Amino acid sequence: MSVLIYADSHHGKFPKSSLEAVSYGAAIAASRGTTSVVLTIGTLQGDGGLGKAGAQKVLNASSVHTTDSQQLSRLVVAAAQAQNADVIIFSHDIAGKMIAPRVAARLDAGLIPGATSLPASEGAFKIKKNVFSGKAIAELEVTTSKKVITLLPNSFSVKTDGQDAPVEAFQADLGNTTLKVKEVKSEEKEGEIPLPEADLVVSAGRGLKGPENWGIVETLAHELGAATACSRPVSDIGWRPHHEHVGQTGITIRPNLYIAIGISGAIQHLAGVNGSKTIVVINKDPEAPFFKAADYGIVGDAFEVLPKLIEAAKAYNASK
Ligand SMILES: Cc1cc2nc3c(=O)[nH]c(=O)nc-3n(C[C@H](O)[C@H](O)[C@H](O)COP(=O)(O)OP(=O)(O)OC[C@H]3O[C@@H](n4cnc5c(N)ncnc54)[C@H](O)[C@@H]3O)c2cc1C
Repeated sequence: MSVLIYADSHHGKFPKSSLEAVSYGAAIAASRGTTSVVLTIGTLQGDGGLGKAGAQKVLNASSVHTTDSQQLSRLVVAAAQAQNADVIIFSHDIAGKMIAPRVAARLDAGLIPGATSLPASEGAFKIKKNVFSGKAIAELEVTTSKKVITLLPNSFSVKTDGQDAPVEAFQADLGNTTLKVKEVKSEEKEGEIPLPEADLVVSAGRGLKGPENWGIVETLAHELGAATACSRPVSDIGWRPHHEHVGQTGITIRPNLYIAIGISGAIQHLAGVNGSKTIVVINKDPEAPFFKAADYGIVGDAFEVLPKLIEAAKAYNASK
């Protein structure tokens, strides 16, 4: 038996969310006395740092460059069968959300999407996940012999003390596809911290009044080494790009620090950010609902508070 982890890479690098899935899979393999095997596609330098994160073996399908989830699910199933894997792990990122359900269907396996815990150490195979927009935690039991899990980003620490892993070439028949990719669009700029990866996030809403005022948000984010995010109306009106929109209909993030500026704190917004470790809210309305979810709150005008925060962050950085 083994635990197979599918590790997605971007521009030849493994994002934190993929490494978290590798370390999570390694922990499950260790608890079951089995091997952790990582499957990757495309070009790989050495073991890509996957051994440090917990991989005991790496399978590299170097000639595969597709994002087609039908074909990638066949690749993962072939690797799972070749490695006799009974647990298959993905990150709960775009690739994982597209491929994992197909793999579960092909293997007749139970699927836990968005897991936030390791399986219970004894007894039935039970794993926790957030439900009702993060307001409650469910414990799901998988009773099938094969199990597929997608791990919610920022739910498990990346291991860094593993050994270099041997890399084996892997090939499989990807078969035909009925999917057609019409366009591949990336709104992320070179050098930007990808939002799902960020430990610190500075986010702003309609309280900023217009796109011309985002300079202070970006400056604060830059001084803190944070990524920027926004509420849905802000991306809907086109003040900010869609990949920054967090919430129920945007992306879900769980950074260590989430600073919300001029955002009311509607339930649909909170659904995407309430897993953050620390939430700081800046709002001029003391009755804004966001304060109820905040660890720290500043009641004040963003245009007065932000310059002071920027000044303090600059002074701190200069003193380091
Ligand atoms: C089905 C559905 C799905 C949705 N999904 C999402 C989602 O995924 N993400 C999301 O964000 N929303 C989502 N929404 C919209 C959500 O309900 C709210 O309308 C939205 O989050 C409000 O955005 P906001 O807080 O930026 O704007 P507003 O509600 O207009 O709030 C602006 C806030 O800024 C404060 N403010 C104003 N001026 C200043 C100032 N100078 N300084 C400091 N504070 C100031 C105000 O007091 C106010 O609290 C969804 C809605 C629906 C119906």
